[in-house]
Amino acid sequence: MTIDLADILAARATIAGVAARTPLVPSLHVGAISGNEFLLKLETTQPIGAFKLRGALNAVAAVPADAPGVTCCSTGNHGRGVAYAARAKGLRAVICMSSLVPQAKVEGIHALGAEVRIAGRSQDDAHAESRRLAREEGLAEISPFDDPLVIAGQGTIGLEMLEDRPDLAAILVPLSGGGLAAGVALAAKAVKPSIKVIGVTMDRGAAMYASVRAGRPVEVEEVASLADSLGGGIGLENRLTFAMCRDLLDDYVLVTEDEIYGAMQTLYFEDRMVAEGASVVGIAAMQAGKLPAFKGPVATILTGRNVDMTSFTDVVAGRDVRLGDVEVKGRSYGA
Ligand SMILES: *Cc1c(COP(=O)(O)O)cnc(C)c1O
Repeated sequence: MTIDLADILAARATIAGVAARTPLVPSLHVGAISGNEFLLKLETTQPIGAFKLRGALNAVAAVPADAPGVTCCSTGNHGRGVAYAARAKGLRAVICMSSLVPQAKVEGIHALGAEVRIAGRSQDDAHAESRRLAREEGLAEISPFDDPLVIAGQGTIGLEMLEDRPDLAAILVPLSGGGLAAGVALAAKAVKPSIKVIGVTMDRGAAMYASVRAGRPVEVEEVASLADSLGGGIGLENRLTFAMCRDLLDDYVLVTEDEIYGAMQTLYFEDRMVAEGASVVGIAAMQAGKLPAFKGPVATILTGRNVDMTSFTDVVAGRDVRLGDVEVKGRSYGA
């Protein structure tokens, strides 16, 4: 099974008019730090507040209208995307999540009319439940990342970015299961082979990074993070995203919770934007000086805005944030 540019072009036609064609806007502050123009792709402005609507719409479009329904496991945003796409098509949706998923995301999915199952303490547990529902109730299971239609849907972001700015030298992609990075890298490199695509993720529980280093999909321990949307494994039976990320990504950068905390403050105080921790890892990598010099404009994808508002207001107020067994020390912006 392979995916090519034609699949991404087809996805664009399928999702047009429901998923937004989002803006790519400069961040003057981050540009000044980096010495290059720095751009933000605002997937935060999607109707569900995250890019996952693209892949979900493309995958749900292929489910027969008389199917008994759809199911998935999710760290929150994929579930929201699947719930939104299923509701538009009149399909039942059952979203399986672990107890690590923030309450704001559970409520967001309920509000879209989907059923929510909380199963266990990890994405693997949630995945086992969605597989069981597929097997026992005949629901169509939609992987959050390891599905050709999902990857093609996320890849439409790469097409839009290079249409708006053909001069981009690099794209920094928040990385978890790798559906986003695989799709964006495939699209961007098909259009502009010289572009660099860098996967950015948190430094603990980074499953794709550990797997690419090991040369095969490996399991990592799932830990709480400000970038909760980046949690979870890539699946030991990974079919697509492992090989695509291995072959298409130019490099990987890992950021700390402290750096994510600082980047959320930067985006809020300098660009006046609200985003989840997973969205700002590209900014965090740039601020921490962890990226090589690029010869031209650099862009990152603000992947979602569905942050738990208690944690968010703690971060921007400079307070300590406690996430499960993790504590991120507070500090005021600019201090
Ligand atoms: C899912 C998600 C990611 C990572 O996407 P993958 O395709 O799993 O790599 C990044 N940011 C947000 C907000 C997400 O919901």
